[in-house]
Amino acid sequence: MNECIFCKIIKGEIPSKKIYEDDKVLAFMDINPVVDGHVLIIPKEHYEDFTVLSEEIVTHIYNIANKLTKELMTKLDSKGLTLTVNYGDAQEVKHFHLHLLPNYHIHKKEKSVDEIYEILK
Ligand code: AMP
Ligand code: ZN
Repeated sequence: MNECIFCKIIKGEIPSKKIYEDDKVLAFMDINPVVDGHVLIIPKEHYEDFTVLSEEIVTHIYNIANKLTKELMTKLDSKGLTLTVNYGDAQEVKHFHLHLLPNYHIHKKEKSVDEIYEILK
């Protein structure tokens, strides 16, 4: 029996908030977001981690990441975005996933404390 939580999401046995899907990959909202707009992209086929991905699926996942990055930044008004892949002890779910993490702090750091204070006071 396959106990993988992300395989269960793909099969619809566990609910998810899907934002993109095709025959090879699924993108959905992270259940415990680090930032607003934290999205995960996963292959529909079970690969444990990045070291065993096929070249074909790597290319496809990064093409979808490219598309979703533009969409997230536009819709959420973030000025940057970080892509993260965890591995080994740092990887909690052993089904490969690419984290998309919009960066709002880059935008926030464009202004000085005084400029922000003028806005907020
Ligand atoms: P990692 O440490 O890279 O394996 O991160 C696993 C990520 O999966 C974490 O950010 C979790 O919040 C997320 N996660 C775990 N279970 C679910 C779920 N059922 N739906 C959405 N995201 C999940
Ligand atoms: Zn899986």
